[in-house]
Amino acid sequence: EVDAAQKAAASSAADSDAPTIFDKVIAKQIPAQIIYEDEQALAFRDISPQGPVHFLVIPKVRGRLTQLSKATEEDKPLLGHLMYVAAQVAKQEGLAQGYRVCINDGPNGCQSVYHMHLHIIGGRQIPDGRL
Ligand code: C5P
Repeated sequence: EVDAAQKAAASSAADSDAPTIFDKVIAKQIPAQIIYEDEQALAFRDISPQGPVHFLVIPKVRGRLTQLSKATEEDKPLLGHLMYVAAQVAKQEGLAQGYRVCINDGPNGCQSVYHMHLHIIGGRQIPDGRL
């Protein structure tokens, strides 16, 4: 018997190579509050913010990076760049008191968009161990 969680996991995995809403953000086909952009990366405000400041950092080219666990040796410079962009944009957003960086991976990580992204959440005290 396949329960709901297994079904959800299976459908996420099956869909994980399909284009996502973030491709439309990159192509500027849907409105997004973009706060940083360079050749490799884009940062924009999350539409459902979990704090006074909540933005996402994504690679412009999705390639194999639909999720962190698909990263290969080749992706190491890009992953480093995304982390660096997160820190620079956090500074730009005035998060001098700190912030949380989070990556959800796969069904157990509650990943909903299969285009790898970093969540940066700040502007409030985040409880220990939670978002
Ligand atoms: O980590 P996860 O895949 O669940 O995160 C997806 C995030 O993308 C959510 O926080 C959601 O609010 C955000 N989102 C967005 N703009 C969209 C679609 C989703 O900021 N158009």
